[in-house]
Amino acid sequence: MKISKRAQAVPPSATMAVTARAKELKAQGVDVVNFAAGEPDFDTPDFIKAAAVDALGGGQTKYTAAAGINELKIAIAEKLQRDNNLTYSPDQIIVNIGAKHSVYESIQATLDEGDEVILPTPYWVTYPEAIKLAQAAPKIVQTSREEGYKITPQQLKAAINDKTAMLLLNSPNNPGGFTYTPQELAALAAVLEGTDIMVLSDEIYEKLVYGKTKFVSFASLSEDAYNRTLTINGLSKAFAMTGWRLGYTAGPVDAIKAMGRLQSHMTQGAVTFAQVAAVVALKQGDEAIEKMRLEFEKRGAYMAERLNTIEGVLCDEPTGAFYCFPDVSAHLGRNIGGAKVDTSLDFAKVLLEQANVALVPGAPFGCPGNVRLSFACSLEQIAKGLDRIEKWLKS
Ligand code: PMP
Repeated sequence: MKISKRAQAVPPSATMAVTARAKELKAQGVDVVNFAAGEPDFDTPDFIKAAAVDALGGGQTKYTAAAGINELKIAIAEKLQRDNNLTYSPDQIIVNIGAKHSVYESIQATLDEGDEVILPTPYWVTYPEAIKLAQAAPKIVQTSREEGYKITPQQLKAAINDKTAMLLLNSPNNPGGFTYTPQELAALAAVLEGTDIMVLSDEIYEKLVYGKTKFVSFASLSEDAYNRTLTINGLSKAFAMTGWRLGYTAGPVDAIKAMGRLQSHMTQGAVTFAQVAAVVALKQGDEAIEKMRLEFEKRGAYMAERLNTIEGVLCDEPTGAFYCFPDVSAHLGRNIGGAKVDTSLDFAKVLLEQANVALVPGAPFGCPGNVRLSFACSLEQIAKGLDRIEKWLKS
């Protein structure tokens, strides 16, 4: 069949090869340690499941309004007020089919051909594709380890030109495991003042912050920031609900309405009984979230500490999300266990074959000297995987 130029231009996921090979090895009975996961290893809390079962039993099986049920939009508005000091009315909120859909749809609703989006590295792999599918262009800004992989106000200023339509921020960050401080965000917001540049703030990992880290929503910084920002969040990461496909976007009413028009023709609304359960999750989920957060915090600190004891591996302690993103560039160009390891992709491939540890190369995230290790797995697995990596790097 003829394949559209649009679809042809979308590359297969660069992380797929490692994940698929890890699955293959596992199926052959190989004991693979998996640091490649992008989702919590916890199950959805029972009280949320029970709410979905009740909703099904109660006949909540029909279409909903495309933008989501009103009860859920109200629960999201309450959450944004309570947690983020953000005031949104229900008509400024749209429920999407996962935050990935929020990203895609918000970009489709706001960008035109030729628009540029400032995208700091490391970036989640979906962003450049979503931008290009809107015929806009990512303007990638290379950050440095010294700056904690964060875009500086100077870099932001230098990247702006008359085509710049949007700044895309993701904090806490996938794959970086870092979180912008309120001061850092305020300095970026100051650069944008007086421009008409939008901000897409992907806050999906908001609840997973560690140590003294304080999460702040970009839109809450000032009235100016509020007016230029689309805030994206969802239930996948905080509530261990990746398979439920529930995300949301909040922002200026004209943008949310435009998203609603697109959504009404593309997907209609999110799953009805999942939306009903999401109301319960948002209202009663704090305790369950905190339990998982504490577990992630222990694992992340341990993983980073262990990584830093390995020669040629440099890792900042994660302040958010569930990833360590060490710089392993000292090992690139080496011969490890008899195999040439030139790139982060080689690193991931050879490590998996020789030491049976799956992780994700940094190149597809725009950081070719790094690799991403997820700590969404048990402390025992983390210890076992790091023992293997340490031994492998000496081979
Ligand atoms: N944003 C970021 C940064 C992510 O890492 C993910 C999940 N990998 C998402 C958005 C999408 O989450 P979901 O579609 O499951 O809600």
